Amino acid sequence: MNKALRPAVIAGNWKMNKTRPETKALLNELLPLVKDATCQVIVCPPFTCLETAVSALAGTNIKVGAQNCHWADNGAFTGEVSAGMLFEMGVSHVIIGHSERRQYFGETDETVNKRVRAALDAGLGVILCVGETLSQRECEITGDILALQTKIALMGVTGKELGRIVIAYEPVWAIGTGRTATAEQADEACGGIRGVVAGLYGDSAAGGLAIQYGGSMNAANASELLGRPHVDGGLIGGASLKPADFAAIVAAACQ
Ligand code: PEP
Repeated sequence: MNKALRPAVIAGNWKMNKTRPETKALLNELLPLVKDATCQVIVCPPFTCLETAVSALAGTNIKVGAQNCHWADNGAFTGEVSAGMLFEMGVSHVIIGHSERRQYFGETDETVNKRVRAALDAGLGVILCVGETLSQRECEITGDILALQTKIALMGVTGKELGRIVIAYEPVWAIGTGRTATAEQADEACGGIRGVVAGLYGDSAAGGLAIQYGGSMNAANASELLGRPHVDGGLIGGASLKPADFAAIVAAACQ
């Protein structure tokens, strides 16, 4: 499928930043800047600010995502939040498998898959993160790692459910480091992931899947990255906390 027929998706991962008043202020500044965006725009504040964001963005073109969810519906999982709780609050998406969750919180491909399943069952859209470490890239096993992470994460996901998934290719070495993948590297990796998805679900489903690049994307490098045939959007960390920069990335995706 032609890239122009796929939805571009720009999502902001705020990580552990912003209080509720700060959330309101950031969104008030961002809203007028992206109100005419033709691509999908999602902001992902911390759990404590989700309700604030949902009410501030009601009736607008910006959707709200969470940064994680647990796989159980409820129960004795202190500190966790279920997918159903997010859906009930009006959250539409959830980031799953971010490398910081894998690195600092023991997330594995298997728990990523359980969380993906739970999110889909609850009615949420999923931003599924995959990506290689620097040593894996240097060992030239990037394609194998991306294939493994993608295949395990999508276990038990039907072709129809794939329509609620966006995959974010995020090389671990590029996240929060200021070191961006080249447009060629990003396109090659996103194209490789699309090939893996085609093997699982067929060419048509893979052709309709939005695959984002994430890793130090900013207002200056967005156009080049987003101009590549397999890069359908971005998962943005640091730059998503600056409304003008985030809006510039949205504008680059809407061209
Ligand atoms: C991220 O957190 O997903 C990310 C891409 O961060 P940054 O843009 O800051 O590298």
